[in-house]
Parts: sequence; C-alpha cells; structure tokens
Amino acid sequence: MKIAVLPGDGIGTEIVAEALKVLKVLNLPMTLETALVGGAAYEAHGHPLPESTLALAKASDAVLFGAVGDWKYDTLDRPLRPEQAILGLRKNMGLFANFRPAICYEQLVGASSLKPELIAGLDILIIRELTGDIYFGQPRGRRVATDGHFPGAEEAFDTMRYAKPEIERIAHVAFQAARKRNKKVTSVDKANVLETFQFWKDVVTEVHAQYPDVELEHMYVDNAAMQLVRAPKKFDVVVTGNMFGDILSDEASMLTGSIGMLPSASLNSANQGLYEPSHGSAPDIAGKGIANPLATILSAAMMLRFSLNQAASADLIEQAVKNVLAQGLRTVDIYSEGTTKVSTREMGDAVVKALQVLVHA
Ligand code: NAD
Repeated sequence: MKIAVLPGDGIGTEIVAEALKVLKVLNLPMTLETALVGGAAYEAHGHPLPESTLALAKASDAVLFGAVGDWKYDTLDRPLRPEQAILGLRKNMGLFANFRPAICYEQLVGASSLKPELIAGLDILIIRELTGDIYFGQPRGRRVATDGHFPGAEEAFDTMRYAKPEIERIAHVAFQAARKRNKKVTSVDKANVLETFQFWKDVVTEVHAQYPDVELEHMYVDNAAMQLVRAPKKFDVVVTGNMFGDILSDEASMLTGSIGMLPSASLNSANQGLYEPSHGSAPDIAGKGIANPLATILSAAMMLRFSLNQAASADLIEQAVKNVLAQGLRTVDIYSEGTTKVSTREMGDAVVKALQVLVHA
C-alpha cells in the first residue's frame, strides 16, 4: 500500500502529523512518501502542484492531504494560488466523487449551534460531484459585454455545464452508497431556474430506475439549505453538483458542532482516493498547537476503508476517536464546560493510546 502524504500549509502539517502517528499504531504494510503541496510547494518550487508531487499522488493508492492556502497568497495569479493544487489533483486524478459524512458524536451534541434534539444521532452523507459544474466549465473569463443589461461594460462570466455520463456516474455512486445505509437519496438541484440542473434531475431520475429499492426525492438547493437546519435527520444520502455540494457540505459540517471533526474522501472510478479534513488551513490558528486533528485522523480511517480495503482497521480508529471523546478530551473548537481542553498533540496522543488499547484487546 503506497500512500502519498501531502500536509500542505497552515495547520495541515500539525494535523497530518497526528494522523500519521495513529496510522503507525496499526503496523500495516504501508509505504508513506511525503511531498510539498500548496503554498509550501509554491515557496520551494514556484508552483502549488509541482510535477513531482502530482506524479507521486498518481502513482499512490491513496493521498493523505492536510490543507492548503494562506491569505498571503491571495494576490498571486490564480493558477499559482495554493488552492489550485487541490483542483489540479482532483482533475488529474479524476476524483469525481466527494464523500462528506456529517455525523454527530453523542458527546458533542452540545457543541452544535442547533438544539440537541435536532442533531442527536445525526448521520448523513453528502456526496458532491467534484470535477464538473461551474468550477471547471469553460469558457470563463473577463470581457467587455456586447449584450445583456450593460453592453460596453466590463463583465466576468463562468460556465455551468454537466455531461450526461458525469451525472450518471455520480448518481450510481449515490444510489450504491444509499443501499449500504438507509436507502434514501435526496438529489439537490435548481431545476426551476437552471437548464443544467433540469438535465441533472432528468438523468438522476433515469438512473434511479436501476435502484428500485432506494427511495429518491428531488429538492431545490434553497429548500435543501433550509431543511438541513430545520430537520437534518430527514436526510440520508444527499447527492448534488460541485457548487451546491461545496456550500451544503460546509453547512452540514456545522450541524455536528465543528468543522474540525469532519473527514472527507474524494474517489475516482478505480477507488484511488484523496483523503482530507473538510476544513481549510486555518491560518488564524496555525502554529498555535490548538487545531483539532480528529477530522484528519477520521480521514485516514476513510482511506483505510475505501482505498486500502482495511475496513476493520478503519473501525478501530473510529472507535478510538469515540473513546477519546468519551474521556472528555476536547480541542478548543469543541470545548465546553466540564470537559478537558487539550492541544493538537495531546489529542493525537490520546487517540494513539486508545487505539493501542483496542488493538491489543
Ligand atoms: P478554514 O476551514 O481554514 O477555517 C475556518 C474557521 O474554522 C477558522 O476560524 C479556523 O480557525 C477554524 N478551523 C478550521 N479547521 C479547524 C480545526 N481543525 N480545528 C480548529 N479550528 C479549525 O477556512 P478559511 O479560514 O475560510 O480558509 C483559510 C484558508 O484555507 C484559505 O486560504 C482557503 O482558501 C483555504 N482552504 C483550503 C481548503 C483545502 O485545503 N481543501 C479548504 C477550504 C479552505
């Protein structure tokens, strides 16, 4: 099992270090190779995704990714900004299916901004299409308008587009995931306004014919944003396009109390995957040793399950995390009165210890 380790920027290096400590306990036959990505790669090589880093990622079974970005790079030309590395990896590795589970751990019910009864026991899965939509659609750019409301004015434009096979493959992923859960898929669109998402709805409906055992509902994105905070437990699997998924998955993450708890997996059709926390590089807390490493540790568990066929080890890591939360240990983002505040490293050490107990049980 070959794993490319790309810690990136900001808290990326701190949280990935903790995930590596946890993986080490399992003593699995793995080769780990680390490379620079994002702002760190730009500083060293003049590009956020150097050829060598991309080659390493493509030649690996899985990529364990921290986070990229810092406000100090915001004035760089867009292709040189750290965030382009993640887009480049998704595109070049064909990582079209993004899984973001939003699970509310029993011990963290109080950390959510929603009422406990709304989120206790929450377990939903957002599946976001990751390589299409307006984020990648061409043409895009700036120009002088020749029509519209302000001809002659400077304008910017992007293109929203989806090809039928792109929608079909993500719909299959969603229905298959639902089969292993509560057998319900909510497809989120904006079919009332956008041609692209009327097409999305039609294609998802067509694919659904192959999954009669799974319930399908369609929901407009504005309603979905509302329902996610009104009655989140009504969802099981949510499938949507790249832009809507970007927004809804962050919304869903806050249901669970902290973005620092949420892992993610981005997979291609060969099950090669990139695993990363749902949050960014958090420059505001980088270097302070207070970042929550659990989303990254849980991403490593997803990596074992989805790309490395090590489901039993993944279960052990997830159980170790639950045990540590049950001990009352909390990083600052999930801290509440009556619990014990710990640093990034102390949280990693606690998971290592809990995992050692489980491994030797
Ligand atoms: P962010 O997710 O980095 O931070 C948002 C807030 O959540 C901050 O207050 C931060 O301190 C907190 N936070 C995030 N992760 C945490 C953790 N593990 N523990 C405790 N608190 C945590 O989002 P942002 O501030 O909008 O963006 C910062 C940088 O990250 C930007 O350059 C952005 O482009 C980049 N970014 C990268 C990725 C990625 O690498 N996949 C994703 C999102 C944002």
